[in-house]
Amino acid sequence: MAKIIAIANQKGGVGKTTTAVNLSSCLAYKGKKVLVIDIDPQGNTTSGLGVDKKNITHSVYDVIINDEPIENTLLKTCIDNLMICPSNIQLAGAEVELVSMISRENRLKSALYYIRKEFDFIIIDCPPSLGLLTLNSLTASDTILVPIQCEYYALEGLSQLMNTVKLVQRHLNPQLDVEGVVLTMFDARTNLSIQVVEEVKKYFSNKVYRTIIPRNVRLSEAPSFGLPIILYDAKSKGAECYIDLAEEVIEYAEEVV
Ligand code: ADP
Ligand code: MG
Repeated sequence: MAKIIAIANQKGGVGKTTTAVNLSSCLAYKGKKVLVIDIDPQGNTTSGLGVDKKNITHSVYDVIINDEPIENTLLKTCIDNLMICPSNIQLAGAEVELVSMISRENRLKSALYYIRKEFDFIIIDCPPSLGLLTLNSLTASDTILVPIQCEYYALEGLSQLMNTVKLVQRHLNPQLDVEGVVLTMFDARTNLSIQVVEEVKKYFSNKVYRTIIPRNVRLSEAPSFGLPIILYDAKSKGAECYIDLAEEVIEYAEEVV
């Protein structure tokens, strides 16, 4: 039975998609069967894993809005063991279309019911908002993984995010747990990065991953080649760290079972 992890933070540019692409490909590289669901209309996880958005016939939009069985949307990626439910710009309309739909926060959860047993991990890349697509993701998930960028205002918006988690726990998904916080774009040369790490550790105490993702130019180049970091530059610091993160995620999943 897959563990379902939503990668969420309503701030844009904090490393959600980079983490979705590279955590899911590193989990697959470690031999796990993985499905990544791109639920951001920008579709950057889709293209980041080498899927051409022009060739998508069915996407996560059809799953959520048209009740298309999710297995009909799944595509292979450039990594063995890693499938994707892709997204494209059509999904931008879903936030509005969902408003009047029955069971509007539960649609992704229902869609995953039958395929959950086929995978070890399902990773969901959320859009940068706390709208209905993110609520669908949190309702469908066992845990939320929050990337935090080591930058000014890193903690801004986190109380709103944690409040949303509480509301989801109360009304939609009592089982939802915080998987952990991953610090991204860390620059060891700046005091600021070091301060952010300290503050985040104070705020989240034992929920912060030991692995900290450094700012690494290879990580930012890889998406333009449609490759995850382990295929683009397996020897880079970025690849090393995302493998370490995958190991922590596996360790935690096995501990909890
Ligand atoms: P989000 O999905 O939260 O909006 P992204 O993962 O798309 O964030 O990252 C925003 C930008 O920062 C992208 O251009 C991405 O390539 C770059 N980026 C993300 N993580 C790193 C990193 N560790 N080092 C360097 N660049 C990064
Ligand atoms: Mg993104």
